[in-house]
Amino acid sequence: MYLEFQGCKFGARCIHKHFFEEILSFEMSQFGHVSAVNLRGQSNLNNLWSSQSWRCYCLDGKMNTLSFASSDAMGRKLKSPSANAFMTRSRKDVPPLKVVCIDYPRPEIESTVNYLEASYLSSTFRNSPRPNKPLKIVIAGAGLAGLSTAKYLVDAGHKPILLEGRDVLGGKVAAWKDDDGDWYETGLHIFFGAYPNVQNLFGELGINDRLQWKEHSMIFAMPSKPGEFSRFDFPGVLPAPLNGIWAILMNSEMLTWPEKVKFAVGLLPAIIGGQSYVEAQDGITVKDWMRKQGIPDRVTDEVFIAMSKALNFINPDELSMQCILIALNRFLQEKHGSKMAFLDGNPPERLCMPIVDHVTSQGGEVRLNSRIQKIELNKDGSVKNFVLNNGSTVEGDVYVFATPVDILKLLLPEDWKEIQYFQKLDKLVGVPVINIHIWFDRKLKNTYDHLLFSRLYS
Ligand SMILES: Cc1cc2nc3c(=O)[nH]c(=O)nc-3n(C[C@H](O)[C@H](O)[C@H](O)COP(=O)(O)OP(=O)(O)OC[C@H]3O[C@@H](n4cnc5c(N)ncnc54)[C@H](O)[C@@H]3O)c2cc1C
Repeated sequence: MYLEFQGCKFGARCIHKHFFEEILSFEMSQFGHVSAVNLRGQSNLNNLWSSQSWRCYCLDGKMNTLSFASSDAMGRKLKSPSANAFMTRSRKDVPPLKVVCIDYPRPEIESTVNYLEASYLSSTFRNSPRPNKPLKIVIAGAGLAGLSTAKYLVDAGHKPILLEGRDVLGGKVAAWKDDDGDWYETGLHIFFGAYPNVQNLFGELGINDRLQWKEHSMIFAMPSKPGEFSRFDFPGVLPAPLNGIWAILMNSEMLTWPEKVKFAVGLLPAIIGGQSYVEAQDGITVKDWMRKQGIPDRVTDEVFIAMSKALNFINPDELSMQCILIALNRFLQEKHGSKMAFLDGNPPERLCMPIVDHVTSQGGEVRLNSRIQKIELNKDGSVKNFVLNNGSTVEGDVYVFATPVDILKLLLPEDWKEIQYFQKLDKLVGVPVINIHIWFDRKLKNTYDHLLFSRLYS
């Protein structure tokens, strides 16, 4: 029996919760988005072992290499994940389940120019001379930006105090455990090969093995054939950009040949001109750029609406083409740029806690339930302190804001509103996003252990 879990962007994370509860005796939440095989069934297993790189986890307690924590280990208590995390539901009539997770091999990203640059920059923090007087740096917001800021500051010998308003780490990658023990995440989060700083961070934290790499493909739900998917497969043998071009050329369901040619020709300036061409496209929306290339609106609606929403949660007639091209350009320049990995569990424990451990082990602090309510200023207009929700104040030598822009706009002191630099904030507007988890009561047909692009017309 081969059972799959999958993450569907926009649709939801689809986990066959009740289906499993009927047949199997384990806590669904332990698996996030992995694939499971009941080894007693043995079907297809030999083929799967031979074709891919696998890791095996057993639920009988003998081979428990993944460690997920109990729900409240994240958040308030800031505990490290417990080692004894796998739980089984006691059902006498159900045999012990063994689970196998598919992992495609980690791509060779460490040798890319971007990764080497990120790795070098990060090493300069560690290798710089220690400051005579470490700075006390107060950081607002323990999302990935605030957490990584704190990480690199302790590496450079400073003393960050990271203040998080909520009782959970991670911000937009936060997650919560329900009474059944299932994790609710703030959306599916993909870690691309083209993220040199993030990939380097995982490496430095020693948690590369928590990334589960998927097939090098982009898979789209087809509007004209509900329930069916169309794939863009990037062949491993070809270098970039040929692997991407091949993926586009070989897809016969989403693009006709004239559309493929027009799109490829449209992308040539980005491939040749690089970043300067990409930046020059900022004034034009995705929809208009496509029209300019002679690509029909159907393609925008079927392919680029999904990409626009994936990147910015807005439609192609609102999104700057620069955003799409930044992503596409990285994908076209780097062989593994568009390769995707999922985190092997909930982000607060599997990613944020290792950062917190690193920060606190080197003298930094991370405080939850510490919402900044006011930025108090000195007479000269510099920051005097942050006033928290409980009335206390936190003072530092330097202050960093790593919250969404809307929060900073709300907290901006009156005196600063006149400053031109801060006036630019007016143009930055947040996009509200709702994330829906759907628990299906049976196995879905045509499922993939991958990100599935889809779209809603609204
Ligand atoms: C549904 C969804 C799916 C996504 N998928 C992907 C993906 O697949 N790949 C990808 O690369 N990116 C993805 N993203 C984007 C990515 O998650 C974010 O860019 C990133 O997590 C933002 O991190 P951040 O630290 O900048 O901000 P945030 O995560 O927003 O962190 C800000 C923190 O500040 C805290 N805060 C706010 N106000 C205060 C205050 N007054 N005092 C103290 N603390 C405060 C908040 O509670 C929060 O913890 C996705 C985003 C969403 C919403």
